[in-house]
Amino acid sequence: LASFLLYTAYVGGSLGGLTSFYSEVMKGIGAGSRLFELLDRPSAIPLDSGEILKDARGRIQFHNVDFAYPTRPKTAIFKDMNLIIDPGTVVAVVGQSGSGKSTVGSLLLRFYDPIRGTITINDTDIKKLNLHWWRRQIGLVSQEPVLFAGTIAENIAYGANDDTEVSLEDVQNAARKANCENFILSFPDGYDTFVGERGISLSGGQKQRIAIARALLKDPTILILDEATSALDAESEALVQDALETLMRGRTVFTIAHRMSTIRSADVIACLDQGRVAEMGTYEELMKKEEGVFKKLMEHQRVEAEWMEDEELTEHRD
Ligand code: ADP
Ligand code: MG
Repeated sequence: LASFLLYTAYVGGSLGGLTSFYSEVMKGIGAGSRLFELLDRPSAIPLDSGEILKDARGRIQFHNVDFAYPTRPKTAIFKDMNLIIDPGTVVAVVGQSGSGKSTVGSLLLRFYDPIRGTITINDTDIKKLNLHWWRRQIGLVSQEPVLFAGTIAENIAYGANDDTEVSLEDVQNAARKANCENFILSFPDGYDTFVGERGISLSGGQKQRIAIARALLKDPTILILDEATSALDAESEALVQDALETLMRGRTVFTIAHRMSTIRSADVIACLDQGRVAEMGTYEELMKKEEGVFKKLMEHQRVEAEWMEDEELTEHRD
């Protein structure tokens, strides 16, 4: 446990992206031995050398990327994978479970590097960039954001880039935009309410809105959203959706989408299959393809959704 805490303190302090690392570490703990692999990672990539671009806005491109996780080198996740995203575009990354959707985010954040091929921004290989700077350009709202032990204000302020001063007013503005303020002010200690392991526990929807507030304060050029699969209650879901829309404005967004509404409203859909982007286009374009991978995926999802509705009806009858 001690090394785990040290690790989170270290990467958190030096990289300013605590949520992402926290969730990575949590995943690592879940997988047992993978924790050691995670612990080795920060030192593997030098943080403070490399290029800093004038502008992080730009076309993001995966060029013939091959990738396998170091622990399972024979299982190719991507094989000759190509993807082009123009600045300010919302791309919905879809595909079956295990198709590599979250891995797209991990590669962008350089938790891992491709085995072959490159990922570029404005034609610069992201491996050439100063990693500290690069990660500051990217916001991440993960499926199950984990808050660290501290006050709500501290948890939100953590999103800010470390060279900027954060005032309570900034924190409050972000919280307001992320639809957090009502529930925060319902606690006797308001923004000073202690959360995390020993503090009060928040609902999934509340945690997500805190993560959104944190990302708003960070104001990243690029955003990675890993949409929650587990259903939030209807009110919380509407508030989270609304906050996400505010957050997405004007950014390049990779959204790992499960919700039909997110998929339909994306500028472009990248459908992963067999280690590649099998299809790319708008919802209408992809649904027109007879025997299309995306079309099949949607039909499958529809069947699942109907099945879930049936389950709910059964529950209500009891
Ligand atoms: P998706 O998000 O589409 O469900 P992921 O990108 O999470 O898929 O994972 C793709 C594949 O890689 C899955 O088979 C998953 O089990 C595996 N995987 C994910 N993370 C790791 C890891 N850290 N080490 C080894 N295998 C992993
Ligand atoms: Mg995933």
